[in-house]
Amino acid sequence: MIFHVLTLFPDMIRDGLNTSVTGRALASGRIRLNAVNIRDYSKDKHKHVDDYPYGGGAGMVMQPEPIALAYEDIVKDMEKRPRVIYVTPQGSVFNQSMAEELAKEEELVFLCGHYEGVDERILEEIVTDYVSIGDYVLTGGELPALVMMDAISRLVPGVLNNEDSAEFESFHDNLLEHPHYTRPVEYRGSRVPDVLLSGHHGNIDRWRREQSLKRTLERRPDLLETAELTEKDVEYLRTLGWTKDK
Ligand code: SAM
Repeated sequence: MIFHVLTLFPDMIRDGLNTSVTGRALASGRIRLNAVNIRDYSKDKHKHVDDYPYGGGAGMVMQPEPIALAYEDIVKDMEKRPRVIYVTPQGSVFNQSMAEELAKEEELVFLCGHYEGVDERILEEIVTDYVSIGDYVLTGGELPALVMMDAISRLVPGVLNNEDSAEFESFHDNLLEHPHYTRPVEYRGSRVPDVLLSGHHGNIDRWRREQSLKRTLERRPDLLETAELTEKDVEYLRTLGWTKDK
């Protein structure tokens, strides 16, 4: 997976990705990062990349040409047109299934806006996906791009040590994951649930599934509407007061 990021703050992108799990994935070459400074493509002698909005109003708008030139430089050697994601509060809200879909691509281009945003004409020219990370407004697109690259990277084969760990965690089957415990068995008077110490894998799996259902019902009941539930799951949820058409 190669991530190309069009940004005014390439160091923020490099520093953000070059840590912990994604840092190791970069070092091993499982993911690659090409952080491109849009400012390098400004033809202005002061390297300006933004200007006042036509029609008036507050803030500055990123100009189209430096972005177009930076983008053309990225794609010049590519065989097919890549997906270009403009991170914006006006996009579809990012989730795990989007991460799974994007992880299938070989290369992705992220465009990070700043100030009031980006001139609409360059968006129309190059962007394939408009993606938001939530209903709030940030100062720039760098954190959203990092959030997305992190979620996508951990789905790239070999990035996580244990391939299973991405498969069974929250949002798999549209359920939240069960709680975790580690040593010691007793911590300040609170014990690890006995079933986890029993060594009985069937009982442990069932307990985890029920915890996952219970937690989803308590914290994100909306997810249950589209979760993949067995009859046994539905039966258990009913004992907790859940009805399917709630
Ligand atoms: N004026 C824009 C609007 O109302 O839609 C907001 C601009 S915001 C201050 C600057 C940049 O931050 C945006 O161009 C976008 O790239 C990024 N950004 C801010 N909030 C975001 C969010 N929730 N998700 C994704 N990107 C976001």
